[in-house]
Amino acid sequence: MPDSWQVTQHTASNWAVIYRVPLEVFPAYYAHAFVLLAGEHKILVDTGSGLPSSNRDLLAGFTAIGDQFGTSIRVDDLTLIVITHGHIDHVGGTDWIRKLASDAQIAIHELDCTSLTNPHERTRIAHQRMGNFLRQAGVPENKRQQLLALYVIGKPDLTPIAVDVILRDGDTLADCMEVIHVPGHAPGLIMLRVGDTLLTSDHILPKTSVALSPESIFPYTGVGHYLDSLLKASHLEGIQVALGGHEEMIPDYADAVIRTTELSSLKIKRILDRCAEPRTVYQLASDAYGVMDGYTELLMVEQVGARVEYLSQRGQLAIENLDEVLADNDQPRLYRQSR
Ligand SMILES: [Zn+2]
Ligand SMILES: [Zn+2]
Repeated sequence: MPDSWQVTQHTASNWAVIYRVPLEVFPAYYAHAFVLLAGEHKILVDTGSGLPSSNRDLLAGFTAIGDQFGTSIRVDDLTLIVITHGHIDHVGGTDWIRKLASDAQIAIHELDCTSLTNPHERTRIAHQRMGNFLRQAGVPENKRQQLLALYVIGKPDLTPIAVDVILRDGDTLADCMEVIHVPGHAPGLIMLRVGDTLLTSDHILPKTSVALSPESIFPYTGVGHYLDSLLKASHLEGIQVALGGHEEMIPDYADAVIRTTELSSLKIKRILDRCAEPRTVYQLASDAYGVMDGYTELLMVEQVGARVEYLSQRGQLAIENLDEVLADNDQPRLYRQSR
């Protein structure tokens, strides 16, 4: 873990105290969990990946809150566990922590609740849809099988967990947090507003463009929902402190939203420009990113697929080989700018 990564403390304008706890969720890959104290409420936001390093760092975070800030809180004091979205680096430790904090209620947005209640079905359906997407994207068959295998590794089959509180946009949690639904990166992704402080989870990060995939794989993901959610994020006023699910503190929230939106629009335009000639999603990804390998390749093909989907939904791209595609649904689609 980078030396500068320590538990940090932030006091929101509504007097809730927020501790940001860094976790090594995968080897050399880091995410944050947050511990919030507000009145009698003791809240954990996100549970890490559930891997031993992640669980270790989460427990160390509780110890550090006592040692560094003199606030005594134990895991079994928790009253509420809020999951910002159903990705493994945010939800994977829930079964483990629930056993240590048996009195805590578990809350998640309605569109990501199956990541807890029915992870087996969610993973299997996503796997099937991903297989179809990669085929229609024109990924060569041997490569498609490799990417599908990687996709499964990134989505381990978790133990089903009951959800106590189903969240919707605008809900208030524990008298101190507002739920802001921002679909795109994940169907049920939420930001949490605590007074003047915003937990942005994976909607807005200071350095990285967040991963997007087509909503043909998961409804409510994709570029269209993401851009709508960036617009929603731009309307939030009075945010003094913004803390993401990864990376350092976001130095200027309003500026980060503008930059993220501009960069997204630029990437969409590049795809449209490259479709002056007919292209499959896989060709577009290879043109844009060169030689790709492993999980990065899967992410890049998904990102390009999401942008192509966005442009086709809006009539800016058309399928060049429509007759072939209609005759055989597995046929890779060739996209070209609409005339
Ligand atoms: Zn995520
Ligand atoms: Zn994440």
